[in-house]
Amino acid sequence: MNCETLIRTLARERSLSREDWERLFAEYDEEDVSLAMELARKTALERFGKQVWFRGIIEFSNICRCDCYYCGIRCSNHNVSRYRLTEEDILACCAEGYAGGFRTFVLQGGEDGWFTDERMAAIIRAIKEKYPDCAVTLSLGERSRESYQMLFDAGADRYLLRHETADEAHFRMLHPENQTLSNRLRCLRDLKDIGYQTGCGIMVGTPGQTPATLASDMLFMRSLEPQMIGVGPFLPHRDTPFREEKPGSVELTLFILALCRLMLPNVLLPATTALGTAESDGRIRGVLAGCNVIMPNLSPASVRKKYMLYDNKAGTDLTAAEGVALLRQQMAKIGYEVVIGRGDYQKEETP
Ligand code: SAM
Repeated sequence: MNCETLIRTLARERSLSREDWERLFAEYDEEDVSLAMELARKTALERFGKQVWFRGIIEFSNICRCDCYYCGIRCSNHNVSRYRLTEEDILACCAEGYAGGFRTFVLQGGEDGWFTDERMAAIIRAIKEKYPDCAVTLSLGERSRESYQMLFDAGADRYLLRHETADEAHFRMLHPENQTLSNRLRCLRDLKDIGYQTGCGIMVGTPGQTPATLASDMLFMRSLEPQMIGVGPFLPHRDTPFREEKPGSVELTLFILALCRLMLPNVLLPATTALGTAESDGRIRGVLAGCNVIMPNLSPASVRKKYMLYDNKAGTDLTAAEGVALLRQQMAKIGYEVVIGRGDYQKEETP
């Protein structure tokens, strides 16, 4: 089967064999990317119309115990000026976001031990009390099942934890020994089991990524059936071991986003900040590849430059309001509208 047939088969059957995924990633060309984007855009239009959901991301701590080789806020990077926001700061970000029409707040941070279950639960409860019509998404890395349960019971609705790669050997190339793929996958299973709307995902173009590792990612995502998938290009950071590595390809990122839409038609799929950093119209192209979520930054301007996961991260020179206005303009340019609302995952109706 050639790539065009594989893409059309995926659109129809929503799955491919390992062999077919590998062939697709080894042999695709520009025309295949265009075809996948066109079919994915059509799939997204049928389900969501020309609408995208905004989620406000609050980067509340850049303190992290992990030492991921790709990440600018890894604990070994001593050039980072570390910060953590207070509960008051976080609530101020939510207030600004709420006034701007946001109904989902994403609390993202490094694995910062200061944010114990009790402290995190108190923050979640405070947000939910003030904004009962809003969803709270967490992105705090790996924690115990008990911890995830406690935060869910405090009112958290969703959790983003990219698996980064579903291939054991590749995972080892990206992380030090004390981080394991099995624990990452255990976390994702626990999150789903507890009842979170759960997001996994990958960076595109990390060192060691191959058609075979990407095939494992697609098969893993198909079997997990996450409600959200985060896919963005890997971008090097000057203070990490991967400083000399090439950035991930925008074309391949768009291709994978489109394939995710075809494989899991209802999934919530953000056009990521990394995509908007790699190319100024990256997020527009993401929406045209089937993305239906954008996550503008609600972090205070004073800390934005300190949450540098990779060099030249988009939006760090803007205030929250400026960033939101720019993204609204970009969406209007392609005829898409930003919707106000929680934008929960909708399960497919079974006939
Ligand atoms: N600590 C939490 C976690 O591990 O999920 C949330 C923060 S972590 C920095 C969020 C995501 O940023 C990671 O899952 C990773 O995919 C992405 N990221 C980190 N470094 C990156 C880089 N150099 N280029 C692109 N994305 C990167």
